[in-house]
This record gives sequence, structure tokens and C-alpha cells, in this order.
Amino acid sequence: MPTKIVFPGAEKKIKLVLPTRKETSPESRTVEGWEIRPGIVYTALRNLHTRMSYALTGEPLGPSYVTATTAEAYHKRLMGLIGRLEAKQGHGLALLDFFGQAVPLPGHGADPAERDQTATYATTGTPADVRVVIGAAVSGNKALMAWHERSGNGVGSVGYVEFEPSLIAQVDEVAIPPELLLGHELVHAARFLAGTAQPRGSAPVKRTVPVLRDSTGVVFHDSDYEEILTHGNLLALAWAERLEGEGAKAFIRPTEAHLRSDELARAHVESLPPGDPALAAALATYRARRRLVAVSEVTLARELGFVTRPAYTPLRESNAVYGTLQVERDKVPDSAFQRQHGQGLPPELASKVTWGSAPGASDVVANVGDDDRKRAEELDAGVRAAGDTLVMAFPEEPEPRPGGRKPAALALTRGA
Ligand SMILES: [Zn+2]
Repeated sequence: MPTKIVFPGAEKKIKLVLPTRKETSPESRTVEGWEIRPGIVYTALRNLHTRMSYALTGEPLGPSYVTATTAEAYHKRLMGLIGRLEAKQGHGLALLDFFGQAVPLPGHGADPAERDQTATYATTGTPADVRVVIGAAVSGNKALMAWHERSGNGVGSVGYVEFEPSLIAQVDEVAIPPELLLGHELVHAARFLAGTAQPRGSAPVKRTVPVLRDSTGVVFHDSDYEEILTHGNLLALAWAERLEGEGAKAFIRPTEAHLRSDELARAHVESLPPGDPALAAALATYRARRRLVAVSEVTLARELGFVTRPAYTPLRESNAVYGTLQVERDKVPDSAFQRQHGQGLPPELASKVTWGSAPGASDVVANVGDDDRKRAEELDAGVRAAGDTLVMAFPEEPEPRPGGRKPAALALTRGA
């Protein structure tokens, strides 16, 4: 029996003042939204990203919301997708809960002029904890942007997602359902909150990684490292980081950014004296960050019983194509999302999706030398031997204890 979805009441209404890098009036940066889960706010603002850019540069732009009817329909579809993501009580639930459990740590990026977002409950004026804002995209979705250096330096920051809940994609002939596309964006947002996001923008950090082994051998591919980590192809992660252990005991080492994030969260707990009221939140953040490291589009798909694209961008045969689901998500059987790469699009979707464009030819497979190819084949064997339990994970270590460690210990000691 599906849960009845009720639009949030006035007590869940949130007043958000967007962050800025300029001296601007809070009024020009204020938008409204609703708390739909702890730490997660939905806004019916139709141009969250443009609005964010204007807020940051100080240029005024009046908020523009979708109509109340659309806002309610959007909310219902969004909650339906969230319900699907968390249904298996595993990685999907850990991802959603992360926004209610983890807080950005005290600390800053290089730009001290950057002001934080503030959030309050509209009816009482009491502060609200907002860690991701999901805006109503009219069509398509937009990736997150790193508003703060904090998104990647281990401190953590609020994330902003613009998302259309009827969005569907096909990449290399694999159809990706809306809940998995939402999951992908939320993984980025959670990575921002954990302070583990990879730098993007003007100088995207690309990596060449192996992603699958087919009849032609191991296929290499290059992509922004942030997308490789968010997508989570296990062979790619094992290549870029390190595969430890063997068989069912194998795991993939976290990135340098993960280790820095973990070290800062640990140092924060250790900097607090026993009995400090901030201790519970600091420990919850430390634990949640360690759990989150395993969650990616690939592990979410595995948990939901779906096949997802081999890599974030297409390898060959087709371009990435986005479309709009013309029926409610519940009217499409899950079998539509279980066909392997190269098997062709599922007939279940034929009459239910309007595709944005027709698939075209592309070839973005990277060429690598024989040594790399050989090493990737060996690694692929190790990844296969590890089976369905393989994830990225931190090595075990004792939990941090409060002890009033000097604040200097919070200085970044790892990475650049
Ligand atoms: Zn992405």
C-alpha cells in the first residue's frame, strides 16, 4: 500500500536566504521552500541555478515560481521517487538520511567574503538545518555547482539541485529511471556536504579509467573525476584508487578528499570536551561520512535491481539522450530498467517517453597502451571475484573520542 503523499503544511515552510559573494540585501536573495525530509528542502522556484548565480554576483533577479498546481504535482512525483530510492532500506536510505545526519564542519574556504545561506522556519522564525535544496526544473536537470571551496576541502557545504521528476535518460542504450537520476544528483549533493567533491568548472579534472570488458577487450573512457566518483563504476574506482583484499573481503580505498574529510570530522570530535552539546552532531557527522563513501549511482542501481549506464557519458553506439516520461512512474514496469548495455531500448518505454533527440553516433573510447590494458584486465578479474558486495570503504579504525584537542589540530593536514 503506497503512502499517501500530502503537500507539506505551513509549519514546514522554509525561508531561505541564498549565499552571496557581494554586499546585497537579504530580501533580494530570499526564496521560499518546504522541508520534505530532515535537511532536504524542496522549492517551487523554476530557476534555482540562475537565481543562485545572480545571488552570488549580487545582481537582482525576482524569484519566479511554478504555479501552485504544478508545485503540488511536482512535490508528489518527487516524493514518489524518494520513496523508491529508500525502499530497500540500504544505500538509498543512507543517502537520504545523510542530509539529516551530517553537518558542515566549522571552517572555511579561501574566500572569507562568501556568506552562507541561512534558513529559518517561516512561521516561527527559528533556524532550520538545510543541507540540500531541490528546485523545480521545468525540463531537464542541471548538475550541482561548487559554490564553496568547502565543497571539496573536507569542511562541507550546502548543495543545490535543479531536477525534473519526469526526467528519463538513455545512455549506451541503457534506460535510466527518474529515481536513479535523482539519486545521482543527490550523491553529488552529499559529496558537497561531506566536503569531498572534486574541482570542476573552468579546468575540469579528467581521468582516463577502464569501465568494462567486452569482446574487444577492456574499454577505457575519460570523464570528470567528480562524475566518475558519483557514477561509481567499480572497475574505474578500483583503477583510480586501489583494490584491497580479495574476493568477498575486497574493498576499494577512498580518495584523498575522502581521507581529508574523514580526518577533519574525526579532529572535530576530538576537539570537543566531553559533555559538549555539539558532540552528538559531530559524532553523527563522522559516522555518516564513513557510511556515505560506499554510495554511488552504481550501488543504488544494484540495490534497486536496475542496470545502469556503463559510465557517466556514453562509450559508443549512442549519445546520451534525455526524455520526459509521459505517464506516472508507477505505470512503467521495473523490467524497463533491467536491460544490459547493448541490448537495445526496452519496448515497455516505446509509447511512454518523449525523447529530446535521436541517438547519434559517438566514439569517446580512450586509447591506452598495452601495459595499461593488461593491468586493467587483471584488475577486472579482481573486481569480478569480489562480486556484489564490493564497495568503496574506509579501513576500520577506532571511533574518535572527545578530549579537547587543540583547535590547531583542525588544520588540513592531508592533500593540497
Ligand atoms: Zn553528475
